[in-house]
Amino acid sequence: NARLHDFDPQVAAAIADEVARQEAHIELIASENYTSRAVMEAQGTQLTNKYAEGYPGKRYYGGCEHVDVVERLAIERACDLFGADYANVQPHSGAQANAAVFMALIKPGDTVLGMSLAHGGHLTHGAAPNFSGKHYHAVQYGLSPDTSEIDYEEVKRLARSHKPKLIIAGFSAYSRVVDWRRFRAIADEVGAYLMVDMAHVAGLVAAGLYPSPLPHAHVVTTTTHKTLRGPRGGLILSAHGDEALYKKLNGAVFPGQQGGPLMHVIAAKAVAFKEAMSQDFVRYQTQVIANAKAMAQVFVERGFDVVSGGTDDHLFLVSLIQQGVTGKDADAALGRAHITVNKNTVPNDPQSPFVTSGLRLGTPAVTTRGFDEAECAELAGWICDIIDVLAERRSTDAVEDEVREKVAELCERHPVSGTASVGTGAVS
Ligand code: PLP
Repeated sequence: NARLHDFDPQVAAAIADEVARQEAHIELIASENYTSRAVMEAQGTQLTNKYAEGYPGKRYYGGCEHVDVVERLAIERACDLFGADYANVQPHSGAQANAAVFMALIKPGDTVLGMSLAHGGHLTHGAAPNFSGKHYHAVQYGLSPDTSEIDYEEVKRLARSHKPKLIIAGFSAYSRVVDWRRFRAIADEVGAYLMVDMAHVAGLVAAGLYPSPLPHAHVVTTTTHKTLRGPRGGLILSAHGDEALYKKLNGAVFPGQQGGPLMHVIAAKAVAFKEAMSQDFVRYQTQVIANAKAMAQVFVERGFDVVSGGTDDHLFLVSLIQQGVTGKDADAALGRAHITVNKNTVPNDPQSPFVTSGLRLGTPAVTTRGFDEAECAELAGWICDIIDVLAERRSTDAVEDEVREKVAELCERHPVSGTASVGTGAVS
């Protein structure tokens, strides 16, 4: 029973390098976070050894009495946290949660209406290369060219003319508050189901800082690892009181999409849901939003085009079209300065999705490590400094060196290993 670093020094070294990277780089990818020690402890357990196909009390394998306790806790806590009367904690990922909902509610070939990838939707909302675009007839809505906010009139028009069976609301890159009620009204008018994918804002919703879609959607899906700060995974919720629907959803996850659930991950989800019920978590999410606003304001003051002019959540998009700088180049230059972001398509982007003209910046991870608004504003200034030099078509070597040093100092001031991640601190 050798330890990892003795048996497999190559994998152990790569893990150690990744831990060091997470310490020394500033993480602004809006979908990432640092989980707590307690979440990682739960995930790194013998529960990974257990097969538990089925659901608590109705398994296809013996010896499930203890994992049943874990899954029941995860379900109860998910329902309490989000005001749901149904939760399925088994989806291995957000994409699989969405696939299961499609499978439960509609048939291949049916029409679905979701936000396009280019305007902030997710692959699973009807994008051509995804199952949702390949096996269903996907119609896509986007942002209003005037406000860069969701064009509800377009959603209504498309719904009336295409009569979708399923409307998908939710996003991977949108900085404003979505009017879930308005989506539901459109769905009701055309007789469609409404699925809300709240993956990005689930933590804000749990903390009561972003409107909950639960009262409006027939089904809500989410990942558990973004603002919610749990292990990587998916979750399906509903507050619809429709037992027949819940039966279909359970059947679509298992045996529809998956075999055995990942019980170690479900244990970690249960821990994360408990953490999310605390006042610490509300304070954390409040700071996430304050930090995102502080950063976006700096970009605006420095003359950058922040899509929709600011943010109400944990992320915002910066369009670099006017600077003639690509997202790819900005992403690479910032990476060399140890700031991790992701390039992102922006409205009216002249570049391909691989190159793009924008950046998506999010504050969940930096807030977990303890950055405040002043530090986030300073960080935004460093990012602007680098992009300004890129826009002038000059060498970014000197500014990258300068910023890298400042990043190192800021990272040392707020070690990931010392985060106040809900009582326990994240594992280094
Ligand atoms: N839904 C949304 C809105 C997302 O942003 C993402 C991930 O980026 C997903 C679903 C997919 O989650 P996963 O990567 O766990 O499959």
